[in-house]
Amino acid sequence: MLDILEKQKKYFLTDQTKDYAFRKKQLLILKDAISAYEDKMIDALYKDLHKSEIEAYTTEIGFVYKSINMAIKKLKKWMKVSKVKTPLFMFGSKSYKVYEPLGNVLIIGPYNYPFQLVIEPLIGAISAGNTAVIKPSEYTVNTEKVILDMFNEYFDESYIKVVTGDKNVTSELLDLKFDHIFFTGSTEVGKIVYQKASKHLIPVTLELGGKSPTIVLKDADLKLTARRIIFGKLLNAGQTCIAPDYIYIDESVHDEFIEYLKKEIETQYPTANHLGHIVNERHHQRLKGLVNQSKVVFEYEKKDEGYYLSPIIMTDVTWDDQVMKEEIFGPILPIIKFKDAHKVIELLKTKEKPLALYLFTEDKKMMKEVFTKLSFGNGAINEALMQVANPHLPFGGVGHSGMARYHGVYSFIAFSHLKTFTKKTTFFDVKLAYPPYDKGKEKIIRKILKP
Ligand code: NAD
Repeated sequence: MLDILEKQKKYFLTDQTKDYAFRKKQLLILKDAISAYEDKMIDALYKDLHKSEIEAYTTEIGFVYKSINMAIKKLKKWMKVSKVKTPLFMFGSKSYKVYEPLGNVLIIGPYNYPFQLVIEPLIGAISAGNTAVIKPSEYTVNTEKVILDMFNEYFDESYIKVVTGDKNVTSELLDLKFDHIFFTGSTEVGKIVYQKASKHLIPVTLELGGKSPTIVLKDADLKLTARRIIFGKLLNAGQTCIAPDYIYIDESVHDEFIEYLKKEIETQYPTANHLGHIVNERHHQRLKGLVNQSKVVFEYEKKDEGYYLSPIIMTDVTWDDQVMKEEIFGPILPIIKFKDAHKVIELLKTKEKPLALYLFTEDKKMMKEVFTKLSFGNGAINEALMQVANPHLPFGGVGHSGMARYHGVYSFIAFSHLKTFTKKTTFFDVKLAYPPYDKGKEKIIRKILKP
């Protein structure tokens, strides 16, 4: 493991990765590589997670093509040295800032979008001029293999290297002195990453999870709300970090809303063909353990097909139910009734800060209340999930749902150090700040730096 990093350190010191033309070329190579491996990737994602072709293309492959195209288009601008203002008392000086690469970075991915969630940060790492070691999730073995083959064929390991293996391998990588660690995964493992990184003072980006709330007020367009929530919840069988985890619904429209949710599931997933599967036996069992059958109001017939799990709606849920004790990360939708939305907001203030928060209403006052009182990574009004597709919005969590952000220019920034420098004229020198000091100098200084 150490020898790979040593190779990459040596390569970085040649300064080749810093060049604009080099970075652009690597982004183009990455796009070619993905194009060449597209079919294999779609096949692997089907085998690992039963992702339909369109879902695999949209959320994993097309998603990163768009990001690569944006990086290629904007790279020159992002890399530019930019001038900033200089105060008058520094007369004769000019000030600048520029993003420089951090060096050798490590990218660790989760299983739910096993391709996109290592490639998307990699686009930032390449754009910013770094070398990278990629550690894809070991749970999605077919995708892991295609990623490995693709990088072995298209990139030299002294520049980009894929390392495969279980958590012990990840742990070994985390002992090395990288210049940045970009981790996407659970909050629990995020804490291990943070702890390990602290040993060498390595900066980290932690893209973590948690329970993302959805609040539906009584004035919401219930039919449309149900459609958008079901889409957001059932994409990838609920294994999406920003999926609506649970729903708070005004009790006066509860029964009507449940009927819309049921109809939507039947409309969007009339058969199990397009529904993703749970990644493995452990998570399949874990999810089944979260279901309290006495509260289930919707469930398709059980099927013995891979790790298929039916979409499930549970009502009359409380925070004492098992399903509310952890991030669900599956197709189970718990519904909690409320009488007073203000009380819901006060309660959510006491919970860990989520990655996403969704509010369905036309009430502007309530929008303001929710969005000023509650903290979260990314929110949406009358929408679920699609906010992630806007590359102009930084994406990341807060508190337990993570730290730092990426996507679009923020990916470039995530893998850069913002370096500054000041350039001073030698034609003259204002001696005001130099000793020896006297009353006259003091008077001028006090005037400039007055309270
Ligand atoms: P995970 O934390 O179990 O695993 C992620 C990576 O960590 C894997 O590559 C694994 O090798 C490594 N790992 C696991 N245990 C380790 C240990 N003890 N020491 C060192 N490394 C270890 O996450 P997962 O189950 O693959 O993914 C699901 C989680 O990821 C959910 O919580 C979800 O919300 C979160 N997630 C977050 C985002 C985001 O963008 N914020 C995106 C996708 C998933």
